[in-house]
Amino acid sequence: MAQRIRKSKKQKERALAVFHRLREACPEVRCTLDYKNPLQLLIMTILAAQCTDARVNIVCRDLFQKYKTAEDFVNAAPGALEKDIYACGFYNQKARAIRDSCGLIMDVHHGEVPQDMDALLALPGVGRKIANAVRGECFGKPGVIVDTHCKRVANRLGFTRHTDPTHIERDLMALWPEEHWTLFSHFMVFHGRAVCRTRAPQCDVCVVASWCPWPARSQKSKR
Ligand code: SF4
Repeated sequence: MAQRIRKSKKQKERALAVFHRLREACPEVRCTLDYKNPLQLLIMTILAAQCTDARVNIVCRDLFQKYKTAEDFVNAAPGALEKDIYACGFYNQKARAIRDSCGLIMDVHHGEVPQDMDALLALPGVGRKIANAVRGECFGKPGVIVDTHCKRVANRLGFTRHTDPTHIERDLMALWPEEHWTLFSHFMVFHGRAVCRTRAPQCDVCVVASWCPWPARSQKSKR
């Protein structure tokens, strides 16, 4: 990732206040994928594209009984993996990404999911969102995970004005304390699903409304 951006002390304090308020309001927030090891999280994040975490959790209960190692995925019979992940959608592309990624993990990384960002990004079907999730959750290397909820909530809260994930990630890295990158990302997702929804954000009950410029902005745009 290219150069870091600068944010003012005031902007950082506001972001930190939002973080603390969300943590106070929802202390139980965490990654909603039920994984037990880095390989499982990698597979689950690939499956989660255009699918809900709840469905991925259901599908993976059986999937991980059958496939326990990267080698198991590589050796899946033709069509079998596709059938096993069918309910997650885009099963052909996802099965290819899983097989190819596991092949590389076997050939280059001795069967273990790599921790290095570039090595993760070299795996087919793995972008910065997945790489940051795996590194942050499994290896204690914090990363900003920009998904559709994070993108929307971060924009409404005025943390970024960008719409492409790379620029948003840069803005949030500059704004949020590094040790909170992963958890703050989970808060954005949780808040986006529960309160700051796409069509009808519940600003009246939002715990971070006092730091959010969006209600005033949206009222102004209606006039
Ligand atoms: S005040 Fe409204 S727009 Fe701002 S974060 Fe809360 S729900 Fe979202």
